[in-house]
Amino acid sequence: SEEKSLNFIEEIIEEDLKSGKYNSIITRFPPEPNGYLHIGHAKSICLNFGLSKKYGGYTNLRFDDTNPVTEETEYVESIKEDVKWLGFEWKNELFASDYFEQLYAFALTLIRKGLAYVDDSSAEEIAAMKGTPTEPGKDSPFRNRSIEENLQLFEEMRAGKYPDGSRVLRAKIDMASPNMHMRDPVIYRIKHAHHHRTADKWCIYPMYDFAHGQSDSIENVTHSICTLEFIPHRELYEWFINKLEIFPSRQYEFARLNLTYTVMSKRKLLQLVQEKYVESWDDPRMPTISGLRRRGYTPESIRDFCDRIGVAKRENLIDVGLLEFCVREHLNKVALRRMVVFDPLKVVITNYPETQGAEMLVGEDNPEDPASANREIPFGKELYIEREDFMENPPKKFFRLFPGGMVRLKHAYIIKCDEAIKDEAGNITELHCTYIPESKSGSDTSGINVKGTLHWVAVQNAITAEVRLYDRLFQVEDPSSEEGDFKDYINENSLQTVTTAYAEPALKNAKMNERYQFLRKGYFTLDTKDTYARLVFNRTVTLKDTWAK
Ligand code: ATP
Ligand code: MG
Ligand code: MG
Repeated sequence: SEEKSLNFIEEIIEEDLKSGKYNSIITRFPPEPNGYLHIGHAKSICLNFGLSKKYGGYTNLRFDDTNPVTEETEYVESIKEDVKWLGFEWKNELFASDYFEQLYAFALTLIRKGLAYVDDSSAEEIAAMKGTPTEPGKDSPFRNRSIEENLQLFEEMRAGKYPDGSRVLRAKIDMASPNMHMRDPVIYRIKHAHHHRTADKWCIYPMYDFAHGQSDSIENVTHSICTLEFIPHRELYEWFINKLEIFPSRQYEFARLNLTYTVMSKRKLLQLVQEKYVESWDDPRMPTISGLRRRGYTPESIRDFCDRIGVAKRENLIDVGLLEFCVREHLNKVALRRMVVFDPLKVVITNYPETQGAEMLVGEDNPEDPASANREIPFGKELYIEREDFMENPPKKFFRLFPGGMVRLKHAYIIKCDEAIKDEAGNITELHCTYIPESKSGSDTSGINVKGTLHWVAVQNAITAEVRLYDRLFQVEDPSSEEGDFKDYINENSLQTVTTAYAEPALKNAKMNERYQFLRKGYFTLDTKDTYARLVFNRTVTLKDTWAK
């Protein structure tokens, strides 16, 4: 096995363990329950849970639910399902909203230390006093209120005495700081809004910066890992911890995962759902965990992908081809092989006896897995092959079927095409072929070598299924960086449905948790939502990278 070098966060952790700063580590995964998790979150989950597993310790699942307006219980449930499905177990299930009382007490502490004040300025006035990155800001006229007055006003804010937006609590730091986040940031606002957990108990809510670091600290999180956009917040994160004299959690930043041919922000994904570009959050074309699951991705393949992309310090755009490579690698090992014809052309074996379905052939479920079983495949006088596997006037090197040509039918016999039968309009309706009885797979004594092998199904035994073929959701690599609206770049042909495909009878017993390779067609799984009266298969990925550049 190859030795993997440490990523920069592992280096920091190993140093902290070696120096005795910590004996074990605590990390957290802190989603805001305002949407479904996507593959970017999977990167963060694998990183946080992976580190505590590797170094001893644990990971909390903490819902960062300080914004009452956008958060919903539906999202909480989906997030828990997705983390579990990815294969991780959290130690504690926590909610930032459970800390509202403690956070309020922290705010009182800052006020008592003369480090926070109630500001009656409007949001516009506060923005105007902020200054610019090159010019210092201006002190608010309310900056020097007495501690007593601040305590009283803040308590009245909590008691519901004031309307939304009329006052805020601000940290008193430095209006000339080169870091704009340090220019007396707002830490509490008034919002008379119903919260998904605390209901109407609160009408003031802490800002993200005042909740996040303190929540980490309350939980004794040792390494708080977030994405690069939080670098400018780190100074403030540490300022609160220092001034409150609480457990010194430390923040570390890595580059967020971006993938080609999709978008990753929850706001944009929500638009795709609401404006019906996709069916739902778990539409198999979505980069959400639930969409990937419904598409047939395995947790193993997603973890492998997150592992392979590593932990970067600079923003980058990862080729979705790598994700597809990872799922192909895994499915090749676990998928059951089956034959399914999407666009049938009938073949009549003229020299085959009339006893339809009497002959059972044998095919291995998975040649990659020595422990895998075999399945029986009925052969018959009438078969379906793929219409595109026959050409009347083939070009050179066409190794499939043509008049006078020979192919092997997988797990069966070599056949020779004698004649293409046509209707009055000249369309080919069926092929008349002869088979070579001594060429049976596994006991072939015919001495004939053919180049092409085709998949097929026996007409009389075939079952039908719907098959959904998915393509990229967007036509361009990075829809978010293009001119105009990202939705202008949607691929209108991202879903192609084969309403009636013909499958070998073994698929009658297809199971939700099984994966299939349809020979020569790709990897497929049953659709978990639409399979009931009929079978519906989703294509997870093609067999090879066929994306035309
Ligand atoms: P979005 O911009 O999609 O709404 P977010 O960062 O607001 O994402 P959160 O629910 O706050 O979403 O994210 C939970 C955790 O997952 C955070 O620690 C965040 O940094 C991390 N995360 C979110 N998106 C990505 C990504 N694309 N790559 C890596 N980590 C991510
Ligand atoms: Mg966030
Ligand atoms: Mg967000």
